[in-house]
Amino acid sequence: MIFAKQALTSTGWVENLRLTLSQGRISSLGTGETAQDGDTQVDVLLPALANLHSHSFQRAMAGMTEYRKAGKDSFWTWRDLMYRFTKQLSPEQIEAIAALVFMEMQEAGYASVGEFHYLHHQPDGTPYDDLGELSGRIAAAASDTGIGLTHLPVLYSYGGAGQVPLESGQARFGNSLDRFNSLVERARDVVGALPDDCQVGIAPHSLRATCPADLAAVLQVHSVGPVHIHIAEQPKEVADISEWLGARPVEWLLQNADVSQNWCLIHATHMTPTETQDMARSKAVAGLCPITEANLGDGPFNGPTYLEHGGRFGVGSDSNVLISLTEELRTLEYSQRLRDVARNVMVVGEGSIGETLYCGAARGGAQALHRGGGEIAVGELADLVAIDSRDTALCALQSHQLLDGLCFAARDRVVTDLWSAGRHSVKAGRHVQRDRIVANYRSAMASLMSAL
Ligand SMILES: [Zn+2]
Repeated sequence: MIFAKQALTSTGWVENLRLTLSQGRISSLGTGETAQDGDTQVDVLLPALANLHSHSFQRAMAGMTEYRKAGKDSFWTWRDLMYRFTKQLSPEQIEAIAALVFMEMQEAGYASVGEFHYLHHQPDGTPYDDLGELSGRIAAAASDTGIGLTHLPVLYSYGGAGQVPLESGQARFGNSLDRFNSLVERARDVVGALPDDCQVGIAPHSLRATCPADLAAVLQVHSVGPVHIHIAEQPKEVADISEWLGARPVEWLLQNADVSQNWCLIHATHMTPTETQDMARSKAVAGLCPITEANLGDGPFNGPTYLEHGGRFGVGSDSNVLISLTEELRTLEYSQRLRDVARNVMVVGEGSIGETLYCGAARGGAQALHRGGGEIAVGELADLVAIDSRDTALCALQSHQLLDGLCFAARDRVVTDLWSAGRHSVKAGRHVQRDRIVANYRSAMASLMSAL
């Protein structure tokens, strides 16, 4: 049982909520109640967000790519360093880094993660004896932390638009269609040993890393479950795809695949107004990663047009250069304000920006990771976060202002408790396994840095 002084449920703000959990789901809700002995008592209870896009290993590179070299640094020079880095990572290090990342996500208020997993093989491209070795490492990190995992093995077959062969830095990512299908089967085995809310989807990496025939084939084989794809992150990618396929990436995908609510289009950054409207109508989720998109210089998302047409969105921490839910949401809004030279952009008509961002990302993230409705209601997964409204950033605010305070004025330290499908992993602001996970990470990084 959880007792919350205030809570945001599917019907709005309520006071003195008592909530029963059963088998990872919310089985009853009662308002106007009093706390009972044995209840976990919290201040403000919210639906916890899904972090819909992560490459966990990239967390270990944070701070190593912020030095300007002669010439213009870009996404593509960042990617070169990332490739050199991935050549050194061992399975043990990958697991230790993922555990740290998942722990940090939970402490920031995320209950679940979409791990877009493309490190599959040994550094020279030879598969491990167990084809799913590294999927197993991700699953072990999820098990260790209790986060809800939607594991997304990546199909990555080409080094660039037009079926360019993989380069050596991409050897660990590569699979033929057949081997990819075997890998997904193996991933289903390892994720099948996790709690029921954990699951497997697929992720064709991008249009540039696959080809139309392979994409159609893989979608036919894996016709249920989430489908995630990087779509239009960089202007060069849009130009390359346009030249090769005769249409811009989002335009081409909407014309050539049955894009629906199973889909999540990561970095739908560079879209024309028509693409923006058509994508909004598809009911797919736009997977926005504002901190990473700012860090990599990708550009801002076309938020106003997308929301006007009912577009769905969620947020992800992608490169994990910084894992912060509050920072992710405010960076999204601030990117819009800086472009439009305006305030309060990410809402249609009138309303609270914090509520639009938070509740929109809760619903969209849950949809993208197949975790239900993303709200507090009977029958939904118990993905819950508690925050402390006595924090100085929030103490003067009324209920209807709390999400604005959370998004624009607070830091992640306001998170006191977090449940992933009922697993109570964060208590009093700390992950219950924090000390051990941090010690493992430090030792993994020491061995990694001595090898670089
Ligand atoms: Zn990504």
